Amino acid sequence: MHVDDFLKELDAALGSQYILRDDQDKVPYLTDWRGLYTGIALAVVLPKDTAQIVAIVKICQQYQVAIVPQGGNTSLTGSATPEASGSQIVVSLKRMNAIRHLDLQNQTITVEAGCILQVVQEEVKKHDAFFPLSLAAQGSCTIGGNLATNAGGTNVLRFGNARDLCLGLEVVTPQGEILHGLRGLRKDNTGYDLRNLYIGSEGTLGIITAAVMKLYPAPINHSAALVAVADFPMMMGLLHFLQKRASAELTAFEMMTQESIDLTIQHFPQFDTPIIHQAPFTILIELFEYQEEKLPTASSMLEGLLEEAMQHAFLGDAVLANNLSQVKAFWQIREHITMAQAKEPENLKFDIAFPLSNLSGFIAETDQMLRQAFPGIRIINFGHLGDGNLHYNLCAPKDADPGYMADHESKIVSMVYQQITQFAGSISAEHGIGQLKREHLKQHRGDVAYHVMQNIKRALDPDNLFNPNKVLIRHDL
Ligand SMILES: Cc1cc2nc3c(=O)[nH]c(=O)nc-3n(C[C@H](O)[C@H](O)[C@H](O)COP(=O)(O)OP(=O)(O)OC[C@H]3O[C@@H](n4cnc5c(N)ncnc54)[C@H](O)[C@@H]3O)c2cc1C
Repeated sequence: MHVDDFLKELDAALGSQYILRDDQDKVPYLTDWRGLYTGIALAVVLPKDTAQIVAIVKICQQYQVAIVPQGGNTSLTGSATPEASGSQIVVSLKRMNAIRHLDLQNQTITVEAGCILQVVQEEVKKHDAFFPLSLAAQGSCTIGGNLATNAGGTNVLRFGNARDLCLGLEVVTPQGEILHGLRGLRKDNTGYDLRNLYIGSEGTLGIITAAVMKLYPAPINHSAALVAVADFPMMMGLLHFLQKRASAELTAFEMMTQESIDLTIQHFPQFDTPIIHQAPFTILIELFEYQEEKLPTASSMLEGLLEEAMQHAFLGDAVLANNLSQVKAFWQIREHITMAQAKEPENLKFDIAFPLSNLSGFIAETDQMLRQAFPGIRIINFGHLGDGNLHYNLCAPKDADPGYMADHESKIVSMVYQQITQFAGSISAEHGIGQLKREHLKQHRGDVAYHVMQNIKRALDPDNLFNPNKVLIRHDL
């Protein structure tokens, strides 16, 4: 390949100021959010519209250069980071951030893939509508990245994940064709579901350039409570009770163990509040309120429900948020667990999911196995419990020598993954596979599922130019 000719063609298609070659300029695009992976790119390319993406893909086809699509670069699995070979380009969608169409009658918004999630949330709020996808990276992650990873977040219990919120996609295929699927249809059984094929494909099958996303009526208020719970049966009893009695309003049921709270308060003492020290588990419950005239309000409804739940012995004590800023304060405790753990020098993270009926078995057995095999290991377990999603994270023992986690990583990973299989769980609930988990995908999903995925990849991207060696291992193709 003649690199100079390749870059000249990109210059001609986009303008040289949008083809970053300088090492310093490329730095923000080459390392993942957690700092686990750093790659090298031939160039970072910044297209402004779908036509320019088509041009880039065709040039890359001609020169057989691989493409790593990138949105906000907040992936937690290294999926948006190029390889170290220096032979790939990063295509950043961040200039493609237009809101193309807001259709309030159809309750949809059509946005370009590089739109920042929070910008979309704020835009629809001006029109008294609500876009429910919500996660701690929303100030920098993009709709394209959310769809490519099928992101979940804090409102899945009520509104589903990114897949459930998407009605249509525009995609540039590896052949440089545009798949025009920007349709706002809630029913459309016309052949294979191509939209769902691209959602969650982590940039390996095409570049998502725009999407039609569902909107909902804006809630007029939120109400939240922190609840102390002694054990798993109580927790599940409380969840089922709330689902039965407040299913339309219940938006979050987040679990935090005492160990995850202790670590958070150690690093962020400003979030301390007595209720979070009362029981082995603290649950954050959130209800949305929709109708102004309807009584009781979400807050008095939650209060009544919690009193009733207490009579059924589903909880010990509870604190209700009095106002919106207290609701936010409750969420800050939950959201700062990740940041607290990031301050610990050595840790391992598992973003996993189970059928609700298997959660307690997994936790009880795996906690015990790990504590026995690795005395002093700290288990920072929290997550979107209503969705069966645990962030089951581990920190090295307090007095451990440097390098403890690296030394034990493979043994810990294989122990936890074995347990996930035994309890019919998933090795990735919402963060995807990327490069972090690609070695485990085949065993986890089984030969047949992996084989179908190989066939899909070979059929759609026969030259393996789209985010190669992510999700599926290169030598398997
Ligand atoms: C603090 C923090 C909290 C998070 N919380 C959550 C959470 O609660 N739930 C959750 O699900 N995830 C969470 N994540 C991870 C999550 O995957 C991302 O935040 C987000 O969905 C990725 O969007 P992005 O624009 O940053 O994508 P990137 O990181 O840039 O890319 C992610 C993947 O998508 C591909 N991609 C990006 N854009 C496109 C496109 N236009 N077309 C095709 N492929 C594309 C990339 O190639 C890569 O494979 C969190 C991350 C952080 C840092």
